[in-house]
Amino acid sequence: MLDEATRKTIEAKFESRELPATAPESVWGGRSPGRPCAACGEVIKVNHFELETVGADRISRYYHPECLTYASEVRGRVQAQRANCA
Ligand SMILES: [Zn+2]
Repeated sequence: MLDEATRKTIEAKFESRELPATAPESVWGGRSPGRPCAACGEVIKVNHFELETVGADRISRYYHPECLTYASEVRGRVQAQRANCA
């Protein structure tokens, strides 16, 4: 479970559209070489499990598994909101 501050950071990245509101086209798992997480911004420790996604924008993003889970949840809410505003 992510703490409040981390959840806010991830929500803000959807607000600013730094994270895409469309679901990733591909997701893979692997060992981290020490890259930062696209969601929370913290480094994914070397050799810890990371998830890589590629979206419609062809950009690879790397996540802590729990951050990607929360990001998917926020994305669902953002999509529903934007659909209501269209
Ligand atoms: Zn993270």
